[in-house]
Amino acid sequence: IPVDPFDLVIFGGTGDLARRKILPALYQRFRVGQMPPDARLIGAARSSHDAADYRAFAEAAIREFSDADRGSLAAFLDTLDYVTVDASGETGWAGLAERLQPGRVRAFYFSVAPGLFGDLAERVRLHGLADADTRIVVEKPFGRDLGSARALNKALAAHFDESQIYRIDHYLGKETVQNLMAIRFGNMLFEPLWNSQYVDHIQITVAETVGVGGRGEYYDRAGAMRDMMQNHLMQLLCLIAMEPPAKFDPDAVRDEKLKVIRALDPVPPHHIVRGQYGAGDSDNQPSYREAVDDPRSTTESYIALKAHISNWRWAGTPFYLRTGKRLVARSSVINVAFKDAPHSIFGEEAGRHANLLTIRLQPNEGITLRVTIKEPGPGGMRLVDVPLDMTFAEALGPEGGDPPDAYERLIMDVIRGNQTLFMRGDEVEAAWAWTDPIIAGWEARGDVPKPYDSGSVGPAEADQLLKRDQRQWRGIN
Ligand code: NAD
Repeated sequence: IPVDPFDLVIFGGTGDLARRKILPALYQRFRVGQMPPDARLIGAARSSHDAADYRAFAEAAIREFSDADRGSLAAFLDTLDYVTVDASGETGWAGLAERLQPGRVRAFYFSVAPGLFGDLAERVRLHGLADADTRIVVEKPFGRDLGSARALNKALAAHFDESQIYRIDHYLGKETVQNLMAIRFGNMLFEPLWNSQYVDHIQITVAETVGVGGRGEYYDRAGAMRDMMQNHLMQLLCLIAMEPPAKFDPDAVRDEKLKVIRALDPVPPHHIVRGQYGAGDSDNQPSYREAVDDPRSTTESYIALKAHISNWRWAGTPFYLRTGKRLVARSSVINVAFKDAPHSIFGEEAGRHANLLTIRLQPNEGITLRVTIKEPGPGGMRLVDVPLDMTFAEALGPEGGDPPDAYERLIMDVIRGNQTLFMRGDEVEAAWAWTDPIIAGWEARGDVPKPYDSGSVGPAEADQLLKRDQRQWRGIN
């Protein structure tokens, strides 16, 4: 279904994110007929170019990061224009105003350094480019602590209502992450068991094989806690732990997520393991410290922690969260480990296997439920556990197709005016309020992350974190 005609201004339209994600995503939506041909995309950045340069830039980006077919690509490029605009000065704003058309959906994508968000919001308003229905899209990182996030929220709120602000966490745009809500709230099977009475613990793993790459300068000031835990893993935790919202509507969903974050206990230092990767043994990749060019960096590229949610549903159930770079596999997976059956009628010698629900977000999206059956054969009643396995791509067949990239979904949601998959300001602040004391503790103690080998599962201390509780990590394979 095509969205209404719109004007989308991409501030930072010549940057890396626009090249790799935003322009390819828009092209794909155009190709399938969702972005109407009379929509207008206006690249806006400080460097001086004309529309023809920008079309050439977009064409190269789409050819590199998307699969393009000639006819639709030419028509898509026709929707592009470019204006030279200084986000923190007065250059270019009048030219931008001339290009915008009245009576259409209007959105401004702030794909620039967060230091410019406030300046941009102010200028978009002062130059009369926005009305009550105009939307702004802001990228991560949204602050580096509670104070800076509050300041950013305040700077945006001075010019835009919360209902106009779309804070992107691209994890929420992933098809499989949305599927978490469908699995939980579309089935009768799971929800009655989804609490501390039946669930022993929950694990969330987001493992990457890549290192910091070209983002070393930014990453070394952030670390895994700020770059991944505070936003992406926190969002997954919210979706797994939240109460059923009354409706799938933006504030109903975000209210429930916020309650989860606010119910998180502070995390004591002995429930946290920080790690930093060393060199790879086979692939000549640099160690973390080489990659960020600081032989003494104490920034973590890995973090594992045990969290508790103090509410009626989850009191006493640990949530183990871990994320890291240069690990053995790229894998995002959630494991819900159920408790043992209260009593074995077969006797302890038959063996016992607790149910485990595994939700794979990537790769190979799907769910597996491990169930206990009798071991085949004449050897008496011995129990084994076997997987009930479903890979979504197989279950949906060829018509299921490749899921759209997260940015495709999210940008179209901006145009449709649907904020459900975007973070609200109070959610972001609550997440920082939980993260800040953890980071402050490391700084006060001069904490040094534990080294781990590139291509491993992370530091051994992270295994200990679970072993102490007679549990083990599952899911990177
Ligand atoms: P980039 O440095 O590649 O591009 C920045 C863009 O901003 C360029 O188009 C530049 O011309 C423009 N710009 C800089 N100063 C300006 C000014 N005063 N006025 C107007 N334009 C100006 O950055 P990027 O990697 O594209 O990142 C953009 C935003 O997206 C940042 O907030 C970043 O944190 C976020 N982000 C990027 C990625 C990524 O993969 N690149 C991922 C997540 C979030």
